[in-house]
Amino acid sequence: MGPEEFRRAAHQLIDYVADYQETVRSRPVTPDVRPGYMRRLVPAAAPEQAESWPDVMADIERVIMPGMSHWHSPQFHAYYPVGNSYPALLADILSDAIGCVGISWASAPACTELEVIMMDWLGQLLRLPEEFLFSAGRGGGGVIQGSACESTLITLLAARSCKVNQVLRADGVACEDHDGVAVTPDRAALLPRLVAFASDQAHSSVARASLLSGLRIRTLPSDDAASLRGPTLRRAVEEEIQAGNIPFFVLAAIGTTASCAFDNLPELGPVCERYGLWLHIDAAYAGAACICPEFRPLLNGLEYASSFNFNPHKFMLTNLDCSALWVRRSRDLTDVFEVNPLFLKTPASDMPSYRHWAIQLSRRFRALKLWFVMRLYGAEGLRAHVRRQVALAKEFEGLVRADPRFEIAAPVTLGLVCFRLKRYGNMINDHLLSRINGARRIHMVPSMLPNETYVIRFVVCSRYTESRDVQLAWREVQRHTDELLSSTEVLSRAKMLWGSVRAASIGLRLFHSWHSV
Ligand code: PLP
Repeated sequence: MGPEEFRRAAHQLIDYVADYQETVRSRPVTPDVRPGYMRRLVPAAAPEQAESWPDVMADIERVIMPGMSHWHSPQFHAYYPVGNSYPALLADILSDAIGCVGISWASAPACTELEVIMMDWLGQLLRLPEEFLFSAGRGGGGVIQGSACESTLITLLAARSCKVNQVLRADGVACEDHDGVAVTPDRAALLPRLVAFASDQAHSSVARASLLSGLRIRTLPSDDAASLRGPTLRRAVEEEIQAGNIPFFVLAAIGTTASCAFDNLPELGPVCERYGLWLHIDAAYAGAACICPEFRPLLNGLEYASSFNFNPHKFMLTNLDCSALWVRRSRDLTDVFEVNPLFLKTPASDMPSYRHWAIQLSRRFRALKLWFVMRLYGAEGLRAHVRRQVALAKEFEGLVRADPRFEIAAPVTLGLVCFRLKRYGNMINDHLLSRINGARRIHMVPSMLPNETYVIRFVVCSRYTESRDVQLAWREVQRHTDELLSSTEVLSRAKMLWGSVRAASIGLRLFHSWHSV
């Protein structure tokens, strides 16, 4: 493909993209295909001869779109939102065109410098404690990661090293074993004694971080509001210390995945401070809302945190992938991840070498999309987006509350509404959701609350969702509820009838047997 053909193809593709975005509401929200559907549409081997752009373009509708869930459809209400906007799309095009690799400042100075400035812009929007900002010059700073999962793993590993070093330093070069024999503390021997904590509502990425790192993460019970409380943590920490273990890390969730619940930072923080634990805050979804002053109190207690993470690629109109992580002391990361082969050595400067802040070596120019999004929406535009999404969730909540068959199962703070049929168990609620999703007009997923209560999650995901979509979603829920409950009623009446018939026939047999005695 030469430059002229590229220009023509790019114009055509951009038109397609704009059309796709503006008409996505007219597509069924989920696909109607079976696993392996694509094998009969795409040849088994790469073409030997070059094909033409029009052929490739035509295959987008023929091959790709039939197998797509449309995450930006205004009727997509599953999981949490994935960010998307025209400014972010433009930035990703430019990033791909520049195609630099931000290994070090020298490898692409603008890539590093923009990331530093964007992380400070974002941090200021969230009113993070200033120690987290580069501009404060106190050793803290932010970095763009690919995902919240990576942020959890990286901070867990950094906390592990900090704790091991601290224990080794405190023990000096030698300490005594149980029999009073002098031994040299062994880094590897300390690892099995380390223990981290997270609540039973923490995202599944926490369990994965434990598997990947080989570190033990103890799951703690959350309270009735699905929140991890300080006394629960304190008791667990003291038990572990009593057992000879070394507590080192706590993950607190601000906006859990199941129900958007909030761990109690003002209670957890002092426990972490007292026992020297790294407090990592996972605000993957909810963090973005805290750019609005009315939601910022959700982060009260943040001053105790060693690290804080949220995903602009969820609730802040930024395309995947863009997960923002701040650390109070960047040395805690760089000391762990710094490896400097000769070909990567660069002169020391006050600019970060971001390869020491992440697992990836090759890093895309992701700061561009934060720059474009923050400039082209402005802080006010971003706040308006958050408020609009929350207002739509509140509208849905009002519809649920007005129907006596349903209940709201968790407080609606942001864009998630957890609801369920009141008088029925988990199985009927699951049937209801299967019917709704089966019709493919809207899409939602369930979650399980701490007391084994199955709930249906309605999330305002798309930036195209409007009041009419909320009303449509509710009509779908009601229609399927009417159908399900009438069939359930018929079923339970049939069961009752069957029960009476059996009782009558048993009675008749007893009657005959008594009379024949
Ligand atoms: N943490 C929470 C609270 C989440 O809700 C999610 C995803 O929804 C994650 C972590 C994982 O985010 P990512 O896909 O960026 O790893």
